[in-house]
Amino acid sequence: MSKPDLNCSFCGRPKPETQLLIAGLDAHICDRCIVQAHGIVLEESTGEEGDKVSIDLKPPKEIKAFLDEYIIGQEASKRVLSVAVYNHYKRLIQERSSEDTVEIQKSNVLLVGPTGTGKTLLAQTISRLLKVPLAIVDATVLTEAGYVGEDVESILTRLLQAADYDVERAERGIIFIDEIDKIARKSDNPSITRDVSGEGVQQALLKLLEGTVVNVPPKGGRKHPDQKFIEVDTSNILFIAGGAFDGIEAHINKRLNLQAIGYKTTVEKRELDKENMLQYLTPKDVRTFGLIPEIIGRLPVLTYMSPLDEATLRLILTTPKNALVKQYIKLFSMDGIELQFTPGALDYIVEKALQYQLGARGLRSLCEAVLNDAMFELPNSDVKKLKVTKQYADQKLSKIELPKLKVVS
Ligand code: ADP
Repeated sequence: MSKPDLNCSFCGRPKPETQLLIAGLDAHICDRCIVQAHGIVLEESTGEEGDKVSIDLKPPKEIKAFLDEYIIGQEASKRVLSVAVYNHYKRLIQERSSEDTVEIQKSNVLLVGPTGTGKTLLAQTISRLLKVPLAIVDATVLTEAGYVGEDVESILTRLLQAADYDVERAERGIIFIDEIDKIARKSDNPSITRDVSGEGVQQALLKLLEGTVVNVPPKGGRKHPDQKFIEVDTSNILFIAGGAFDGIEAHINKRLNLQAIGYKTTVEKRELDKENMLQYLTPKDVRTFGLIPEIIGRLPVLTYMSPLDEATLRLILTTPKNALVKQYIKLFSMDGIELQFTPGALDYIVEKALQYQLGARGLRSLCEAVLNDAMFELPNSDVKKLKVTKQYADQKLSKIELPKLKVVS
């Protein structure tokens, strides 16, 4: 029988109104107050922990080693990014010591390279390493304020969502802006007219990249008169912009050739690697492509992604920490089935990905197509082992039209 005279010592609710009342030495606490107290404890401890995490400065080599676990190849960009992230951290730490007068600039990054070569994956892996929220946004949907499309601030709404509306966490997060090349100025001549879709958005992005306090509508979209705004300071947000910059090789080529004609440079003596011209990329090429100098200045860390060759694709299938093959083996083992791929089958999948120009993204669609029947039939059957051979893969893939996989991403 409940004693009606027992109350929660914190909120005063009588026992019958509570779901649970726990007795202490001289006091009682109800379920609601326990939850509230727990929340306070969490808030206090994550506040401290959060600070500790972000000051846990990992040296570039350790950052790179972490990236190596998930990303195959792309040595140049992994090195450059490791240093950029390291310096970004140093900057955050330095902000705390007020006597310092040297101001370290932000290390926002521009990644140039074909689609499907791991740009988004790099941003995702860094956010995983740093345990900070990540927002992935597409520059093509952005417009200047007042035009149809999403305002540039909507980027921050995404980040807030990724941070569960914890503003402090969001302010240390990462924003990956994909397809930044699509907002390049359309014409080479900047003076004729204002280019709403391209240059205007670049202008709107400038302040965000550099660091400013923005009033963010929490739910995004159009501003609503009575919507409360959340203030977000972008000074410590790391921006990583990525884009394929289709055709930029021509600009690089032209520049290198001009150099070679004008002066006797080292370029002339050096054999150019025509397969991977991006390695000679400079900010000037990005500017010729149509990004405005101010944007380039605010994305000071410039690096490139190499196209994925056969050997890299083969490694991507099997070696990263969460490689596709490992994932499927895991999925099958959860049904008590031992899954094996013969080397011939893996070579075959890579061959198809290359043949139909499906890239690394296509590897997943191909594996899915090869294994879909088995994943449908085998759970709760008597089969306990599946060996995927080249013939097996070929038989399954012959049932679908491979070029169609291209649209699947
Ligand atoms: P991008 O952003 O350059 O278009 P993504 O990062 O989205 O390309 O890559 C698509 C998918 O391809 C990734 O999820 C990953 O599975 C795979 N992938 C691409 N490049 C690599 C790489 N270098 N190492 C490992 N996996 C990769």
